[in-house]
Amino acid sequence: MFCRKCGAQNADNAYKCVQCGEELQQVTVLPPTTQMKIPNYLVQAILITLCCCLPFGIVSIVYAAQVNSKVQAGDIQGALDASGKAKMWCWIGFALGLVANIIAIGVQLISVIAASRQGY
Ligand SMILES: [Zn+2]
Repeated sequence: MFCRKCGAQNADNAYKCVQCGEELQQVTVLPPTTQMKIPNYLVQAILITLCCCLPFGIVSIVYAAQVNSKVQAGDIQGALDASGKAKMWCWIGFALGLVANIIAIGVQLISVIAASRQGY
């Protein structure tokens, strides 16, 4: 699509003109129900922080907190972006937490086996 203000060519899904910053798409005020459809993953992020992996959980909490504030600021694209990042860090934290737990269980099993072998 072309910018109606300066005529610069932009991607069809562009939110703002790359040249002048003019908003390209019709600015429609979304009803609150539509705004709430962007998941912020805050609950998952807190669970990851508490149960799995603290550093990655905190990163996803930071992004999760940005989702609501960006929705309120009308930055839907930014909110979706933050939502995606919160989701990504949740999964990274979950995966690493899972691996860490498996390693911890493995180490415990090995030490139990080693201890029982020493008994003979
Ligand atoms: Zn423009």
